Amino acid sequence: MNYALTLKQPWATAVMLFGKSIENRNWPPYASIEFPFDLWVHAGSAWDSDWHSPLLGLATEGRLPVSAAGLLLGSSTQPETQREAGFPRGAILGQVTVVGAHEAGEACGEACGTWGNTAAGMWHWELTDPQIHRELVPAAGLQKLWTPKGQVADKLAERIRPNDP
Ligand SMILES: [Zn+2]
Repeated sequence: MNYALTLKQPWATAVMLFGKSIENRNWPPYASIEFPFDLWVHAGSAWDSDWHSPLLGLATEGRLPVSAAGLLLGSSTQPETQREAGFPRGAILGQVTVVGAHEAGEACGEACGTWGNTAAGMWHWELTDPQIHRELVPAAGLQKLWTPKGQVADKLAERIRPNDP
């Protein structure tokens, strides 16, 4: 069973749809987990109030997919209820593969320039291959890496059957 990680919106959607390939945390993945590993991306209930400037900056510079720019530019003027459609909360959106992690600094690559928080002590989790689910799996978020249980785990299992198109 994979771990899940709860991200504030709009960052969870940014990972799944906008090419956000660095997840910023002030802690590394547990040493017991070998790279690469798959991770469920859970959109928490919280909205990051500091999202607007960095994401819109990237959209304006043409560094995001066109669809992302539309979603963002619309969301900045929409009421909260409408923008939730593009940025669902309280649900697992899909999965990514974590291929590595490094401390912000000398090890940083190009993606860190776009998505990395370079504050001292930050860890950059390197994400690849986002696979968004056709249906959201509602779930409450938790701190750190967590393991989906019960109905949430059952619904996720349905989504990773080999014959699931
Ligand atoms: Zn980095």
